[in-house]
This record gives sequence, structure tokens and C-alpha cells, in this order.
Amino acid sequence: MTDDRRAELAANLAGVEERIAAACAAAGRPREEVTLIVVTKTYPASDVRILHGLGVRHMAENRDQDAAPKAAACADLDIHWHFVGQLQTNKVRSVAGYADTVQSVDRLRLVTALSGAAVRAGREVTCLVQVALDAESGQQGERGGVAPDGVAELADAVAGSPGLRLGGLMTVAPLRGPYAGRQQAAFERLMESSSRLRADHPAANMVSAGMSADLEQAVAAGATHVRVGTAVLGVRPRLG
Ligand SMILES: *Cc1c(COP(=O)(O)O)cnc(C)c1O
Repeated sequence: MTDDRRAELAANLAGVEERIAAACAAAGRPREEVTLIVVTKTYPASDVRILHGLGVRHMAENRDQDAAPKAAACADLDIHWHFVGQLQTNKVRSVAGYADTVQSVDRLRLVTALSGAAVRAGREVTCLVQVALDAESGQQGERGGVAPDGVAELADAVAGSPGLRLGGLMTVAPLRGPYAGRQQAAFERLMESSSRLRADHPAANMVSAGMSADLEQAVAAGATHVRVGTAVLGVRPRLG
């Protein structure tokens, strides 16, 4: 059973690796510029263990109630955990206990809460500001995220908060609005935000964009991190 699953995950991973390598080659980018993050949400800790054995070191989860026990079950492995879901402030203390990077920072209250939790846990948490390209000024995106004109304020807050390190930006391609169905344009817009951000924060050079369906467009636009779930682990039993 485990051997079957290992073979399945190895084959899927090889397919994704091939896609990333081809996208890098097409864009004239070195393969090392792009980090694959495997999104393990809804899948068991045993899959995380298999993936680690296959060389994956970056994993992501989007719900604390699933992520916390999974991270604990894999605490003996050197895994860099990314939190990529909408985050309530009452979960921050738990998330700061295992997440190395929180990619979904989208409001000031969350920055304050994460900073307090990171300091208390004696950990440094890398934060990405999640940009909602479908959000109007001052609004949140449907799947979280801050409108593009709110990025600078949040980034400055992260950079000035103890326990936090400003890593860069993250987005999920919008399903609605002017960017619906135009992933490449959406990711290019994110890269513009990233350029502006790096003018003030040169070290904040992470750009997390692209999932199973659109990683090629993300790599073409300049993403440094792609977050892939389905293409590695299979279609999730339910929306997660
Ligand atoms: C689930 C998820 C992914 C991975 O999506 P797939 O389509 O399964 O590759 C990436 N990013 C976020 C924020 C997610 O919630």
C-alpha cells in the first residue's frame, strides 16, 4: 500500500518537476530560481513523510486544525512549513509554533498577532503579503488578500515587527473580475507589485504564485515559489 502510494507520488512529482523545468527553460530562467512547495492539505502525514523521502522540503497547509497535528507528526523531519490559508487571529499562536512562512498576511491585526506569537514562541516567521488582484481599494479578496494599494502599509508593518521577517508577496489567480481566466496577466501584475516592494525592501524577493493549473504562467511571469497540490497528491476528495 505504502509502496504503491510512494510510486504514485514519485511519478506525479517527476511530472511536476518536468513541467517546472520546461517552464524555466522556456522563460530562460535557471531551474534553481523556482522552489516547489507541495500543498498537502486534506492528505495524511504519511504522504508528507513519503514526499520528504522523495526530496521535498517545502510543504504547505491551509487550515490550522489539520496542519498542527500533521506538523507535529512530522517534527522529526527537516520540513519548511508554509501556511497558505486565511488565518484567524485566534489560530496565530498555534500556527507560529510550526509555520516557518505564513503566506497569507493580509491585515494589520494579523501582523500584530503574528509578531506577538512569534516572539513568545522564540521563532522567526517569514511573512508574505497576500495580494488580492480582484479586490477594490480597502477591501479584502474573496479568498483573502489585501488590495494592491494596501501592500506597502502591510509590508512596512511586517518589516517593523519583532519576530517577523518580510519575505515578499503571494497571490492566488482571481476567479472573478478583470483577471479571471488571465493568469499570466495576473501574475505579471503581481510582479509589478513585487518590483515596487523591493524598492523599499530589497530582501523581500519571494514571489509565490501558481498552482497545479497555472504554474507555467507563474514561472513565465517570474515567480520564485509555486504551490502545487493536486498535480502531486491527486484530486482532493472535497474542496479544501
Ligand atoms: C490548495 C492551494 C494550492 C494548491 O492548489 P492545487 O490546485 O491543488 O495545486 C495553492 N495555493 C493555495 C493558497 C491553496 O489553498
